[in-house]
Amino acid sequence: MVTKFRKIAVLTSGGDAPGMNACVRAITRSAIARGLEVIGVIGGYRGLLYNEMKVLGHNDVSNIVNLGGTFLYTDRCIEFKTEEGMQKAVKCCRDNGIDGIICIGGDGTFRGATDLSNRGIPTIGLTGSIDNDITASDYTIGFDTAMNTVCQMIDRLRDTCESHARCNVVEVMGRDCGEIALRTGIACGAAAVAIPEIPFDEAAAIAKIKELKAGGKRNFIVVVSEGLGKYSEELAKKIEAETGIETKFARLAHVVRGGNPTLRDRLTAAEMGSRAVDLLLEGKSNLVVVERNGELVTCDINYSHIVDRMYKNKLKDGDLAPFSEEDLASMKALCAYRKHEIERLYKLANDLA
Ligand code: ADP
Repeated sequence: MVTKFRKIAVLTSGGDAPGMNACVRAITRSAIARGLEVIGVIGGYRGLLYNEMKVLGHNDVSNIVNLGGTFLYTDRCIEFKTEEGMQKAVKCCRDNGIDGIICIGGDGTFRGATDLSNRGIPTIGLTGSIDNDITASDYTIGFDTAMNTVCQMIDRLRDTCESHARCNVVEVMGRDCGEIALRTGIACGAAAVAIPEIPFDEAAAIAKIKELKAGGKRNFIVVVSEGLGKYSEELAKKIEAETGIETKFARLAHVVRGGNPTLRDRLTAAEMGSRAVDLLLEGKSNLVVVERNGELVTCDINYSHIVDRMYKNKLKDGDLAPFSEEDLASMKALCAYRKHEIERLYKLANDLA
């Protein structure tokens, strides 16, 4: 075990997600239990540029395990991305005696973590994102809470749709990832689901709604992922025009980001947070803790970036050059698995509509 570690920092960055607080708490308590000091960086990477941070003692993380948002605050800090900004951040870490940082967030946050580790500050990334959009991980902290919130909202909409014999098109968050829409669509009994990953057969969906109406069905829920842009609003108008069913539109937007984290998110946050502290103490850096088949494992942050790009067909020249044959094979297998899962769930959603 490397003993030079005395003080670690933790920050939350990018989009907030329920469970981030539970994760900061787990990091703080695990680190204190191992004899370390903990610093909470305020407002993501911006806090490292302007030296905004506070010592986190045992009691400073009391009463937050159940709270949504992030009490360390978050920010989208453009300045950090510049070489000057990064040098400032590195100097801030050195001046404060910070031996390693745990960065909770999404893909952008991990890029920042890599930049710091390349400049000599050990970093570990933890996946905090409501969207479940990190290809390398089966799960991201906040996803379960977000889906449960969507479910509750849609259940309410269904009540009123049934009373009035209406349709409601519901747009949910997810950036370019359709996971929230797809899984909540299944769980809420949606008549149709539209996500960015699979071409949406609009004519078939409208024909299905007409057929269901003819069979006596009164309420219709259609879930659309925000990754499809303004399409959700257009679709609501088309459904009304073509089926004669009064159709409302609801954008759940940031409602889905807040709220008390579910048990799943709190447990995952606890396990990932504690693992991240251990990794730093083992002298590891530039790793992200991910979940695969129900187990926590680690992968290199660069691997996580590139497998994301591979999955989204956004590979650039030379991206694959640093990786071994074995890595490339596992990346391809992971992408194929993700794609297969989305297709399987999409078919299930349609079969159950
Ligand atoms: P998320 O982590 O949820 O994907 P963002 O993409 O907004 O959210 O990234 C969060 C923060 O991480 C940014 O505000 C920025 O400070 C830092 N960041 C993002 N991209 C990079 C990059 N390419 N290099 C360095 N830092 C980055």
